[in-house]
Amino acid sequence: MNETPMRARAVVDLAALRANVRVLRARAPKAQLMAVVKADAYGHGAVPCARAARQAGAAWLGTATPQEALALRAAGDTGRLLCWLWTPGGPFREAVEADIDITVSGLWALEEVLTAVRAAGRPARIQLKIDTGLGRNGCTPGDWEKLVAAAREAEAAGAVRVTGVWSHFACADEPGHPSIGAQLAVFRDAVAYAEAQGLTPEVRHIANSPAALTLPEAHFDLVRTGVAVYGISPSPELGTSGDFGLRPVMTLTASLASVKRVPAGHGVSYGHLYTTPGETTLALVPVGYADGIPRAASGTGEVLVGGKRRRIAGRVAMDQFVVDLGDDTAEPGDEAVLFGPGDRGEPGAEDWGRATGTIGYEVVTRITGRVPRVYVGEADDATAAAEASAPSADPADGTGPGVSA
Ligand SMILES: *Cc1c(COP(=O)(O)O)cnc(C)c1O
Repeated sequence: MNETPMRARAVVDLAALRANVRVLRARAPKAQLMAVVKADAYGHGAVPCARAARQAGAAWLGTATPQEALALRAAGDTGRLLCWLWTPGGPFREAVEADIDITVSGLWALEEVLTAVRAAGRPARIQLKIDTGLGRNGCTPGDWEKLVAAAREAEAAGAVRVTGVWSHFACADEPGHPSIGAQLAVFRDAVAYAEAQGLTPEVRHIANSPAALTLPEAHFDLVRTGVAVYGISPSPELGTSGDFGLRPVMTLTASLASVKRVPAGHGVSYGHLYTTPGETTLALVPVGYADGIPRAASGTGEVLVGGKRRRIAGRVAMDQFVVDLGDDTAEPGDEAVLFGPGDRGEPGAEDWGRATGTIGYEVVTRITGRVPRVYVGEADDATAAAEASAPSADPADGTGPGVSA
């Protein structure tokens, strides 16, 4: 790939993303796959990631907010698309018109859908969500009868089609946690009740990435995979991404902005939390918490520079941090690899999660728009094979690395 001279970049490997989707489909062979692309595809870029996931066979896309779903429609996605985090006054009519499956967790939302249906002059697709124990969104089991009855009535009137019944796990990433079986039992009852009342959902679903990877009995008709699509393990307890055959999609790198020799006893970065133990070489990595690098990585996070892992020396500032190279040499412009798939010995997002008291999910999702994304592996495998055998590849055909903020 062309090295674009940039301060920092998040390289997003769409071939790895497609391979991850195929791995996940093979793990849940009887279910359809939803690629969850909320939060700008966990910081990887929703539109290119959605397209790649579709190429690899994701029948569904999922977002949290309706705005995220509408943005995918505006970008040309026409497949099945579910969103679930609604608030009163939300863009229900726009979602109906855009053929988005709308999650309904309570009567207020169903009423908003029915108003939108009248305004749009066409029926809505809705999915009913039950809280089987997560204690977050979703209808309580106690209110389920009323919600099912209202949905059934709306369906009989031709206003809606109930396409799904679903729920979400609290502890699927903790193998053997008693809540898993308890939630499954409540879910099965809720589905059976809805079906006995005459609903005929196309998809019943409860599995997130950890359940897709480790709980076949939870696959039902559809698995909603997010973090695993991006090649990150849902929890170190379950295993590493490599254990599941997943490959991290994002590699975050920066170009060293300064390399200098300093004497012993030199304080480094705000607060002087680090002092050079002897004469040494300091390298400046020009990314900081404004780029999404956790300030909690101060003194703990590791970065690959010159083929070795180096611990962050002192505080992570808004725009930069420092690593101590000792007596190793480096040049301004040399690459620092913050995290990636590990091919060169760099840490993974999961390692950054451990070092900063969070999870791999947050490490990638918090990378901000100040870091340009560079997409590689954009051509689908079939297209790529055709190009490889073509006599001359045109570098301007849009299949090479692309840059977007
Ligand atoms: C985020 C989310 C998912 C995906 O979770 P992962 O653990 O990243 O696979 C699935 N379903 C819902 C409702 C979510 O909010």
